[in-house]
Amino acid sequence: PEQNLAGFLIESASKYPNNKALHFLGKELTYAQLLSASYRFAHALRGLGVGKGDRVAIMLPNCPQLVIAYYGVLHLGGVVVMTNPLYMQRELAHQLHDSGASVVVTLDFLYRKVMSAVPSMTDTHIIVTSIKDYLPFPSNVLYPIKAKKDGLEREVQYGGRVHAFRKLLRGSPATPLHTEVDAKRDLALLQYTGGTTGLSKGVMLTHYNMIANTIQTSLWAYKSVPGQERYLAALPFFHVFGLTVLMNQAIMLAGEMLLVPKFEIAAILKLIHTMKPTIFPGAPTMYIALINHPDIRNYDLSSIRMCISGAAPLPHEVQERFEAITGGRLIEGYGLTEASPVTHANNIWEKRKFGSIGIPFPDTIAKIVHPETGEDVPEGQIGELAVFGPQVMKGYWNAPTETAKVLNNGWLRTGDMARMDEDGYFYIMDRMKDMIIAGGFNIFPREVEEVLFEHPAIAEAVVMGVPDQYRGETVKVFVVLKEGAKLTKEELEKFCRERLAAYKVPRIYEFRASLPKTMAGKILRRKLAEEDQNQEA
Ligand code: ATP
Repeated sequence: PEQNLAGFLIESASKYPNNKALHFLGKELTYAQLLSASYRFAHALRGLGVGKGDRVAIMLPNCPQLVIAYYGVLHLGGVVVMTNPLYMQRELAHQLHDSGASVVVTLDFLYRKVMSAVPSMTDTHIIVTSIKDYLPFPSNVLYPIKAKKDGLEREVQYGGRVHAFRKLLRGSPATPLHTEVDAKRDLALLQYTGGTTGLSKGVMLTHYNMIANTIQTSLWAYKSVPGQERYLAALPFFHVFGLTVLMNQAIMLAGEMLLVPKFEIAAILKLIHTMKPTIFPGAPTMYIALINHPDIRNYDLSSIRMCISGAAPLPHEVQERFEAITGGRLIEGYGLTEASPVTHANNIWEKRKFGSIGIPFPDTIAKIVHPETGEDVPEGQIGELAVFGPQVMKGYWNAPTETAKVLNNGWLRTGDMARMDEDGYFYIMDRMKDMIIAGGFNIFPREVEEVLFEHPAIAEAVVMGVPDQYRGETVKVFVVLKEGAKLTKEELEKFCRERLAAYKVPRIYEFRASLPKTMAGKILRRKLAEEDQNQEA
């Protein structure tokens, strides 16, 4: 079993059967209960014909059913395809067809969307669950989820290839079910990239990849006590960052996960105040939302000891304020789906450097290469970051040409521009494709964004290159102000001029009420750029 990623759950359930594994809006599941439910689900899937290597799509927000289904698939040696519940029909259809999923596990809310995405896939089974399946009504609901009336559930037409999650569980035995896997060859996950930059590709992650990255994260980034930690599970599990630094981590260490199905800051503050989580992995946008909440002082957030931020750059200012408010440590890490995903992080208690993603994980090596020639660049110079380690993917699903572009002899080209300092700490400058070339100068949006974040009136800022007649490209900024704050374009421009070389100072300013984001909290730069172009047209 230890070859299989599901081994973490089996081990924790045998050591700590009565420890709480999941907390969901007031309802709890112990490790023993979670393991039994996952066995039941595995038997049910087997009844639907799922076997080793078969793909099962899970399209759910963070909820107990997601965790049960995930381990159910793994027990069988199946491959989990995590699917974003916010996907629209076109994106969903692409992912289901491309992966060849034979089962989709989803929510009654999403039933219509799923059905419209699979009309031609008549062999696909659909398993439908309801948030209510795990809600203890009536209860002290800690979370303002609108318990939709029965209408939606009635809309689901059970029968044929459509099954009720609850019934499947009830009708299946809780007896153990193990499937031997070859950890280095067999896939645990087919994880589609975020798609913030283009058509999403399936990243093949093996059991070995996922196990390695879970262990690496806990060895380097966390100092957790087995059987004693409480994780605030706000990062979505359909993104691999949430899977590794949160779910797999918590299950490996027999911690308790406080499942948050939707990021709503007021509810999260209440959850922290009452349930006292110790670990809160997140994305910068989550920490930003938290520190800017007007009632922050009314909540006790002192239970939080450790946080790891990834997915996007963490502004220094945000890190400091978050630590001052909670008293916990917030460190920055870095990764990408193709690396399960974490490759670098600062160490939670030891030396860390602000603005740096830290040093490579144990067993991981990293280098900076010339983006065109692939040759190593001299120390201290900027180039493309390449990584090598046990967490690096097997390749892209059905896309050998795409795989060959990024993977060479085990080395993964990340597409991110970075540099390394004399202590071996790495700094992400920006994605190669986001770099702005204005009048012949290279500008990294991130550097300009850091300056903007220093302004007390600014809550969020994104900088990008837009076409310009004279400079080729010029710097444009989108800003969201803090609630009640006031700032004019002239004031902001002056602020930038005092802190940046003239060629880096934004020329175009747009103030917005909000910015488009993925559920993982990453700003959708491509969407923003498209909106911008449409405005121009
Ligand atoms: P796509 O691959 O389609 O663009 P995506 O960007 O959402 O989608 P992910 O694998 O989720 O794909 O994101 C990985 C990227 O996130 C990295 O390549 C890097 O650009 C960015 N990133 C992650 N952590 C950090 C960090 N700490 N600082 C700066 N950038 C980061």
